[in-house]
Amino acid sequence: MSTLRFAIPNKGRLEQPAAALLRQSGMRFEKTTRSLSVPVGNVDIELLFVRTEDIPELVADGVAGIGITGLDLVEESGLPVAVAAELGFGRCRLAAAVPAVSPVKDLSGFAGLRIATSHPQTTERFFADKGIDITTVPLRGSVEVAPRLDVADAIVDLVSSGSTLRVNGLRQVTTLLESQAVLIRRTDLTGTESALADQVATMLRAVLAGRQKRYVLMNAPEDAVPAITALIPGFDAPTVMPIADDHMVAVHSVVDADEVWSVLPKLQDAGASAILVLPIEQLIP
Ligand code: AMP
Repeated sequence: MSTLRFAIPNKGRLEQPAAALLRQSGMRFEKTTRSLSVPVGNVDIELLFVRTEDIPELVADGVAGIGITGLDLVEESGLPVAVAAELGFGRCRLAAAVPAVSPVKDLSGFAGLRIATSHPQTTERFFADKGIDITTVPLRGSVEVAPRLDVADAIVDLVSSGSTLRVNGLRQVTTLLESQAVLIRRTDLTGTESALADQVATMLRAVLAGRQKRYVLMNAPEDAVPAITALIPGFDAPTVMPIADDHMVAVHSVVDADEVWSVLPKLQDAGASAILVLPIEQLIP
């Protein structure tokens, strides 16, 4: 029997959202602060709690069959792992920036510059592809202060809101890569491990799809159903069921989470009452 090893972040920004996603997908596990690995109670999977940046390597080497990490770290590793699902959290971009006062306006202006970055491989590949000659200054952290310390002329760093750039007097010139957390898998998984990896990808996607939707239930007069159906088309059509009251029916449908806000008052105007909005744990369309 082959257990699938699943490497997930043990700390940092991706730790909490990754663990929450696995739990919502139905995996049962207890994490203690000291444990490196724990079995999942209800699936033949062993979780390995490791550093986010080590995960591409652990998966490529076969220590784990699958893992959750940042797409930026997969690119930086240059290792041949497959992206099985985009997970929608940990969104950021790898951006090239210069001091606000710098005359550099576009990519060609980076020629000959020293670029401080925690992503030297990605940076070198990006500029080499464009035929622009640069030198990287690899740094682990605090990349954004490098120009002020005259360690570098520009930076390539992860940015989410852009406020760190602004606070440090930097101006973004271009984006090298859009990143988010991803599920990765070894390219040569076979048999049970491969089937389990497929199942994990399906279940994680089902959770993400469920988070975008709400289950809406309501009662309505029978003759209001056409107007209500027009408002909430659902996947195929809403479910309409008789209830004890002769002239009333129950209508159930799935609605985009973002649309609940605008649709609810319209349903009420169309005659719906006792409207309930419920979260969806998992959804496979
Ligand atoms: P950690 O260093 O463990 O907190 O995780 C870093 C990973 O989180 C990065 O490799 C990215 O994939 C992701 N991330 C998302 N937003 C940011 C951000 N603003 N700065 C750094 N990393 C980010």
